[in-house]
Amino acid sequence: MLPTTHDAIVDDWKSNAQDHDDENYNFLRSLKRRSSKKVDRIAQELHREVFQIVDCTRCANCCRKLRPVFNDEDIDRIANYLGQTREQFITDFLEWDERQHQYWTRSTPCLLLGDDGKCTVYDVRPRTCKEYPHTDKEGFVFSTISRAKSALVCPAAFAIVEEMKERLG
Ligand code: SF4
Ligand code: SF4
Repeated sequence: MLPTTHDAIVDDWKSNAQDHDDENYNFLRSLKRRSSKKVDRIAQELHREVFQIVDCTRCANCCRKLRPVFNDEDIDRIANYLGQTREQFITDFLEWDERQHQYWTRSTPCLLLGDDGKCTVYDVRPRTCKEYPHTDKEGFVFSTISRAKSALVCPAAFAIVEEMKERLG
């Protein structure tokens, strides 16, 4: 059963995410043998349920552990929000990845994370930050390795995977 409060989901993740990693990885890989549409439907239902409980502004673990990609629209929107030129914003916060031809945050934790643990550009944050942990995207069965990694970083993703085992096990 899904924990019913934000704190209970975070506590469950802290206590069990590492221990359940192998089991969750194997479960997620096994989903490739299931109906992709059915898996998507259940993942999307659970994503809605879990994000009604989890408050990302009280967590921000993804902001501490991951380096999100900033596309051109993200850069223009956030630079404008901060009253900076595009060039200044890139200099202050981002790093160009020559191999993948994209901008990432310059370091972890993300330099846009405030001292209070909240994103300083939350309303205009990058698309990938809004969409993380991507558990409601179509084609769940084709991204199971990424979802297993998400369950180690994100309490919400962990809760979704744990409940998927119940509903699809
Ligand atoms: S831009 Fe905001 S939401 Fe995205 S990683 Fe940085 S602090 Fe977190
Ligand atoms: S997406 Fe996951 S890791 Fe990021 S703030 Fe929300 S619950 Fe925490």
